[in-house]
Amino acid sequence: MSQVVDHLAELTGFRDRDVMDVTLVMALRDLLEPESVAIYRSVGEPGQERWLTRAHLRAGDAVASADPLWAKPEALPLVTEHPLRLEAMRSRSVTQVAQGGQWFYLFPIATDRDVVGVIEILSTRRLGASSQRMVSSVLRIYHNFQGLLDYSERDTLTGLLNRKTFDESFLKVLTEIPAKQPLPEHGAEDRRHEAAVPHYVLGVIDIDHFKSVNDRFGHLIGDEVLLLLSRLMRGSFRFHDLLYRFGGEEFVVLMRCDEDVHAGEAFERLRLNTERYVFPQVGRITVSIGFTEVRAGDAPAAAFERADKAVYHAKAHGRNQVHNYAALVASGVIQETAPLSDVELF
Ligand code: GH3
Ligand code: MG
Ligand code: MG
Repeated sequence: MSQVVDHLAELTGFRDRDVMDVTLVMALRDLLEPESVAIYRSVGEPGQERWLTRAHLRAGDAVASADPLWAKPEALPLVTEHPLRLEAMRSRSVTQVAQGGQWFYLFPIATDRDVVGVIEILSTRRLGASSQRMVSSVLRIYHNFQGLLDYSERDTLTGLLNRKTFDESFLKVLTEIPAKQPLPEHGAEDRRHEAAVPHYVLGVIDIDHFKSVNDRFGHLIGDEVLLLLSRLMRGSFRFHDLLYRFGGEEFVVLMRCDEDVHAGEAFERLRLNTERYVFPQVGRITVSIGFTEVRAGDAPAAAFERADKAVYHAKAHGRNQVHNYAALVASGVIQETAPLSDVELF
């Protein structure tokens, strides 16, 4: 009993979801001593969902393994390749199957809105009813704690991440960018051969003439537009891109991509999806988008300001456009703010 309580204390001691998932599989391994225990999440577009391994621990493993946060969807197995897991998610109940002298146990993981994945336990021994109950209870605590995290990290209207969590994610991303990357953005050619270097882009999205939507249709309809736009965003970007509502009618995307053109394509997709969508009562609306590469040693506010300058440019030149800050600087349309190192030279 005290062992279980210790694990629960451990489990709820972190606000980091990655650490929490690893802690959960470690707790279940200590408590049940199975052959392996893993957490899989179903991610991706409807009809194209794949299994993302959040944490996987075998009997002799010292540390848990996991898919990288920015795993390419094509590299992950399709959900249909593991029908037992799907069955557990669909039935929303524990599924157990005996296979080749081993027992598979699949426990669905649910949030308040949806079933999002499964815990898979593989054991040579059959788990008794009390062990299964214990797993279900631990999962309920995990679920409640995730709900609390959602409450503090997410915007209540759209369910997107809130501004408060942006700096932390941004700084996490920075640790993956090697320091020797050239500072000016127009050094893109120099970097073309360094395909393995992680490359991150920050985009700012601002609705065009949103004030007039509120003025003509009222705040409630305005709020519905914000909600629908957040759905268009989810459909336009990949599952691992971080989507934020920064406040009011301003949204931010933090994405990893191989080349700048990919970011441009994704933002262009959102611009087009928005332009084509018929918003109930309101009709058509458009967005202006600016984006910038995240640089080594960047500050969250500095990167945001660059992307925002590109948004400002779009607003001043007809709206309903996507602009890359680096391209605007390269073409001399806007001035690059002097990086700190240049200032220090004088
Ligand atoms: P622009 O194309 O230059 O961006 O014009 P705009 O009218 O969208 O820009 P502005 O920043 O002047 O106005 C933003 C408006 O967004 C002001 C306010 O009425 C509205 N707004 C901000 N937050 C909310 C919200 O949470 N809900 C609703 N319904 N409206 C909001
Ligand atoms: Mg605005
Ligand atoms: Mg606006």
